[in-house]
Amino acid sequence: MQLLMMGPPGAGKGTQAAKLVKKFNIPQISTGDMFRAAVKEGTELGKQAKACMDAGKLVPDEVTIGIVRERLAKDDCKNGFILDGFPRTVAQAEALTKILDELGKKLTRVLNVHVPAEDLIERAVGRRICKNCGATYHVKFNATKVDGVCDECGGDLYQRADDNVETMTNRLNVYVESTRPLIEYYKAAGVYTEIDGRQPIDKVTEDLINVLTSVQE
Ligand code: ADP
Ligand code: ADP
Ligand code: ZN
Repeated sequence: MQLLMMGPPGAGKGTQAAKLVKKFNIPQISTGDMFRAAVKEGTELGKQAKACMDAGKLVPDEVTIGIVRERLAKDDCKNGFILDGFPRTVAQAEALTKILDELGKKLTRVLNVHVPAEDLIERAVGRRICKNCGATYHVKFNATKVDGVCDECGGDLYQRADDNVETMTNRLNVYVESTRPLIEYYKAAGVYTEIDGRQPIDKVTEDLINVLTSVQE
């Protein structure tokens, strides 16, 4: 199953992708996570990505497409994958179509988690992530049992540098301009489904799984 999680920043793509990983046992491929790992390692890619991420801009297409092309060629993607946060531009979507053609694969579904703009800043600013295992929480909507400590592994939580009001405003503008047009691209391809992302986390997951079970039948 080849899935794509689409949606504006803070919509819940990563949260839902992690649930689908457990359910379907296929890897989650998050370009944002890959860039953050590169920043942490201090590689050339990391330096380039950091400047873009801090400004709330997109990392250039050729860089992003390159890392996804390499990742999708790995063995663990053989039985499927969940792309999370890629593609974000029409050029990336066209490149993905080509990469998948080369691998003899097609997208099973594009899942767009729809959340209205007015909710997104609150979601991003309240987001907290485990330093150790990457689990995602929210101070209000998905709080840990013990403040600042991961429920899954006991690790410390941190806040992403780009999860502030100013950078989020830029990211939302970039979404409208560069990423939202992909909705039409994937509608035309006949693989697009929209899910109401304003519901509680587990209800969104339930809707996603219902869509995927009906697609598989
Ligand atoms: P969010 O979960 O809030 O949507 P991500 O973790 O997906 O954020 O992305 C964080 C940042 O990483 C983006 O603002 C952008 O700078 C960069 N990034 C992630 N994915 C892509 C992509 N497909 N193309 C270009 N830049 C990307
Ligand atoms: P994205 O990957 O799309 O940027 P995340 O999955 O990281 O989004 O979610 C952004 C924030 O919103 C996180 O703090 C997460 O815990 C919270 N969140 C995710 N889904 C929901 C939901 N259905 N209702 C309320 N908060 C949510
Ligand atoms: Zn953890």
